[in-house]
Amino acid sequence: MPSRATPLYRGLRGACPHCGGRGIFAGVNDLTDHCPTCRFSFVREEGYWLGAMIVIMALVILIFGTWTVGGLLLTWPDVPWTMLTVVGIGLNIVVPFALYGWSKTIWVGLDITFNPARIEEFAPDPDHGPPSGT
Ligand SMILES: [Zn+2]
Repeated sequence: MPSRATPLYRGLRGACPHCGGRGIFAGVNDLTDHCPTCRFSFVREEGYWLGAMIVIMALVILIFGTWTVGGLLLTWPDVPWTMLTVVGIGLNIVVPFALYGWSKTIWVGLDITFNPARIEEFAPDPDHGPPSGT
């Protein structure tokens, strides 16, 4: 039986947070309008991806912090400052572009963990009538 945090776990796996279905990416950083399996519409309101931007900022801080602190601890006392700095800056540039799509599935999962999907958030199924919400 799914727990309350199941949507978040599904989002962390890059799957549809509502049903766990795959095939929700339209590109590296783009989701399809709705899940092909359960038809849940990912954009829940105007400006919805602002939440994904907060998630990607948290990921950048987490990855940069892990890189910097890990590098310091592993190389102390002969810390290669230039290499740590250059690669750290590179991570801060690359991570937002590489992981933004993933941050969207995490954000949707986080959101529907606290605000479960409503029936009107499912796209109509052209072959089988109105949405079922399952
Ligand atoms: Zn789904």
